[in-house]
Amino acid sequence: MEIVFSGIQPSGELHLGNYLGAVRNWVALQDQYRCFYCVVDYHAITQPYEPAEMASRARNMAVDILACGVDPDRATLFVQSEVPEHTELAWVLSSVAPQGELERMTQFKDKAAHNPHNINLGLFAYPVLQAADILLYGATRVPVGEDQRQHLELAREIVRRFNARFGETFAEPMPLFSTTPKILGLDGQAKMSKSLGNTIALREPENVVWDKLRTAATDPARVKRTDPGTPEKCNVYTLHKFFSDAEKQAYVHTGCTTAGIGCIECKKMLFEGVKVDLSRIRARGDALRADPARVDAILARGAAEARQVAGQTMARVRSRLGLHAAKA
Ligand code: SF4
Repeated sequence: MEIVFSGIQPSGELHLGNYLGAVRNWVALQDQYRCFYCVVDYHAITQPYEPAEMASRARNMAVDILACGVDPDRATLFVQSEVPEHTELAWVLSSVAPQGELERMTQFKDKAAHNPHNINLGLFAYPVLQAADILLYGATRVPVGEDQRQHLELAREIVRRFNARFGETFAEPMPLFSTTPKILGLDGQAKMSKSLGNTIALREPENVVWDKLRTAATDPARVKRTDPGTPEKCNVYTLHKFFSDAEKQAYVHTGCTTAGIGCIECKKMLFEGVKVDLSRIRARGDALRADPARVDAILARGAAEARQVAGQTMARVRSRLGLHAAKA
């Protein structure tokens, strides 16, 4: 079975964009691959954060992932900082990572531009830690969106350089591109993101979810109820593709393009589908939060499984490097 690795930042709670763009796919992948899913708290410390909140952010994220349907009997779910080999391998890989290519990473440039007072080495070397995350588990498949393509290409380059310098050690990871359409935020402008405040969190109460959907941006050309719209230009229609059956999608498409339905009717239909999914996820999440010992046990088991594989990889890497530790 091929191995998949994927990580997610411990933002504290999943929102609809994370769910539709990543975690829903993780649930499907766990039946086809040997999957390692990681809450990447070492990545998160490269941004300003409150230390007193980090552990609960990571734990809450893990609970949300489980609530969405990731099954700890079929996939390994763990928190990155429980496996110190991630940072050890990142340091090793940094000795072959090309600085010039790191300087070209658009995510680094974007983050540095948004937060010029927080340009640190960790932020710069973020893609090297990502390469370590993947390579520790021998992952050959990595689910990526367009925004991660450049980082995965760098990981592949790091593999080539390492293997050329120290002997064949790692396989080049390949992307698993998703067919999921891009999920925009409620503003209909930018990708759904907690930092942009344009999200619906999976745990939000139904009345809040409806309030957000009710006021969500639609096709900007549809100004009046009598104006026909273009569903393909509307993020609400994109969401229908996830939450409504084919018949409902066709009804919305025709109704929109002929001005036969209004946007509120369209959004009410969407809300019916969203409610079904979110209430199922919420019920699972509530059950997990009521049983913290079970969550502890799942994360401890995931970390032990991950450490076992990561430990074997690092033993091989130390030996390739000729380090004193490998001789001990
Ligand atoms: Fe968007 Fe639906 Fe309004 Fe059409 S009817 S513009 S798909 S919200």
